[in-house]
Amino acid sequence: MVMSKIVVVGSSNTDMVIKSEHLPAPGETILGGEFFMNPGGKGANQAVAAARLGGDVVFVAKVGDDIFGQEAVQGFREAGINTDYIATDPEQPSGVATIMVDNQGENCIAVASGANNALRPEDVDNAMEQIEGADVLLMQLETPIETVEYAAKLGHDKGKTVILNPAPAQVLSDELLARLDVITPNETEAEILTGTQVETLEDAQKAAQVLRERDVGTVIITLGAQGAFVLSDSFSGLVPVRKVNVVDTTAAGDTFNGALAVGMARGMDIEAAVAYANKAAAVSVTRMGAQASAPSLDEVEAED
Ligand code: AMP
Repeated sequence: MVMSKIVVVGSSNTDMVIKSEHLPAPGETILGGEFFMNPGGKGANQAVAAARLGGDVVFVAKVGDDIFGQEAVQGFREAGINTDYIATDPEQPSGVATIMVDNQGENCIAVASGANNALRPEDVDNAMEQIEGADVLLMQLETPIETVEYAAKLGHDKGKTVILNPAPAQVLSDELLARLDVITPNETEAEILTGTQVETLEDAQKAAQVLRERDVGTVIITLGAQGAFVLSDSFSGLVPVRKVNVVDTTAAGDTFNGALAVGMARGMDIEAAVAYANKAAAVSVTRMGAQASAPSLDEVEAED
């Protein structure tokens, strides 16, 4: 198998989840909930998804000097990720998300980004050698935009394939967009980026066209159970995903992006890489969890 080297620059969080009968109203205390603690953060989820599929992954991130950061880094090591470029911030705590979920699956989430907000361009510079040796640079928007912009410029100047998953969505500069080989919004993110509401395939085509006119190489709009719409020089159209029994769609997009990075780093053409990403993401929605639901290489190959 061809080794594929991927540098992920992004966030790491610890998700603290309490499941209770109903969501508490302001001032209310509810007893009797169940507690789960899961590793999360879009950067971490995507790094783990890529590593499970055999990617040679370097994760550039920042955690706090606390137990959450230590456990997160230990988890990345166990997943086979190179953790040499995960810095520890002496002042900021590790990123934490507190999530309340009720019996109907309705949720309420508050995120304290902590050390993720302290990821600086200098942290990207520290990983320069790794970026120079990489096939793909993969990023999201849970770390400061200056850092994302800096990494995108570096990756672009060094001729790497630069992929941005623009989540959570925000308006992006023309300079950043022009440095991206691939952008991967979902329907909501595509609307925030382009002002075009995405409900149909024609809408997806229209939104993708807006991003292409702003000089993004390839636009991939993920469409949940439909798969993903692609607009690129070499291919344009829907890449469908197989029908599955959905259990939990948390981090489906993260698995999609991690797998897309692996497919592209292995030299697949865009249609094949998106089909591969769909395949991995479809497996992930059939089970619970974020990082826990990302499939292994064997599981994705068994889909063929
Ligand atoms: P989304 O962020 O909802 O657009 O989902 C990202 C990717 O996950 C999609 O492009 C699909 O590959 C996969 N996916 C999400 N929901 C489903 C589903 N219900 N059935 C199969 N695959 C899904």
